Parts: sequence; structure tokens; C-alpha cells
Amino acid sequence: MPTPDPPPAPARHVLAQDSTGTWVPALLLGWHRHGTTWWGRVAMLEHGEAAVVDLVDGRLKPATCDCCGTR
Ligand SMILES: [Zn+2]
Repeated sequence: MPTPDPPPAPARHVLAQDSTGTWVPALLLGWHRHGTTWWGRVAMLEHGEAAVVDLVDGRLKPATCDCCGTR
């Protein structure tokens, strides 16, 4: 996810790598930075349960989507 700035507004669809390594649909809620590392906060399913989790930027990528204009 190369462009952490500015934060998404409104939230955008992304693909997130879950704990099994599978890319799944997620909703990007915002970014925050620890040192030089950007983390994205996303709403997604983890083990079939709704979860809000922080993922390092390498585990997020844009989803091509018409509803939120993500390309
Ligand atoms: Zn969308």
C-alpha cells in the first residue's frame, strides 16, 4: 500500500492479508505510523468473526472497486 497519506475519507475497500496469509476483502478505516512503519486499521473477518485490526502496510493492497472509486 504505497500511499498512506492522506488518510482515506470516506473509508475505502482494500484487500487485507489475514492471519492465514489469504487476501480477503476489508475496509480501510485509517492509517497510523510507528517510527517508519505505517499501519492500516481495517475492518475485516478473522476466523469468521468481525474484527477491527491493525495490519502493517505490506499486508494491505488496493481493491479495484467502483463503489468507492478505488483503482
Ligand atoms: Zn468500494
